Amino acid sequence: MELLNGNEVSNLIRASIKEEVLKRKAEGKKTPHLAAILVGADGASMTYVAAKEKDCIEVGFDSTVLRFDASISEEALIAEVEKINQDKNIDGLIVQLPLPKHINEKRITEAISYKKDVDGFHPMNVGMMFKGLKTFLPATPFGILKLIEHYQIETSGKNCVIIGRSDIVGKPMSALMLQKNCTVTVCHSKTKNLSDFTRQADIIIAAIGVPLFLKADMVKEGAVVIDVGITRVDNPTNKKGYSLKGDVDFEALASKCSFITPVPGGVGPMTRVGLLLNTLDAADLPK
Ligand code: NAD
Repeated sequence: MELLNGNEVSNLIRASIKEEVLKRKAEGKKTPHLAAILVGADGASMTYVAAKEKDCIEVGFDSTVLRFDASISEEALIAEVEKINQDKNIDGLIVQLPLPKHINEKRITEAISYKKDVDGFHPMNVGMMFKGLKTFLPATPFGILKLIEHYQIETSGKNCVIIGRSDIVGKPMSALMLQKNCTVTVCHSKTKNLSDFTRQADIIIAAIGVPLFLKADMVKEGAVVIDVGITRVDNPTNKKGYSLKGDVDFEALASKCSFITPVPGGVGPMTRVGLLLNTLDAADLPK
């Protein structure tokens, strides 16, 4: 079994982004600039935005965080998005989700210029991705592709089972694995006899948010297992009072797999570099 070490691979990619930014600066090119909109004071969202800001600064990008009170109206938020769409100095814009209930997330996502949509959530970018055209890929599937490529995992002709069909992970992942010549099956909460599918899989990507869902008897010998899930599980023995658990029963499965991601330290750090890579690309798009 070989560990798919997201910490190690993401550090290599960060180092190359850092180098690229220094080169850009030396050549007088634009410094990539990511803006993030944070609405309200949800603890998890604040943590995610702070991490994205730190990542940007660390690789030499410019970073702007715009914070708004949870009471901001949908119209006022759209006006803020439009201001950033027009700002030639800003290359990428993300709006941290979830938004307060009175704001329609779909409307906000669609208000972001697709040329600055470094989350890859805009329908234009989703369509381009499904057609296999160059565009911003959603950060988690993008990070997973980078991990697969780094470890030179063979995908052509392989059976790939994706568990979960969310817009941000499962669905885009299915399109991308199809483009990598896998035979793709997407399983979800309504799938019957799910283990009949996973037992046939050469590659399994689990993205459901059910801790330790994938058990050893659901996986064939030599499978590649990629665990996207992150769930906080109470753990009074841990200083924080919780531990992070993936969707995969790592302890039980690891010895059966050819490759497997740990949680934490697998897909999570790769997602973070996915966003950085998109922002770097965005800096070269005409505004
Ligand atoms: P989601 O929460 O939007 O949807 C869950 C999906 O799982 C649905 O499609 C549902 O059909 C499926 N599902 C739920 N229970 C199931 C079951 N028992 N059997 C089969 N399918 C089932 O999904 P999401 O936003 O893609 O998040 C999934 C998990 O991945 C969460 O734990 C989330 O925190 C994590 N996540 C991690 C990263 C990362 O960077 N590591 C990024 C995004 C999401």
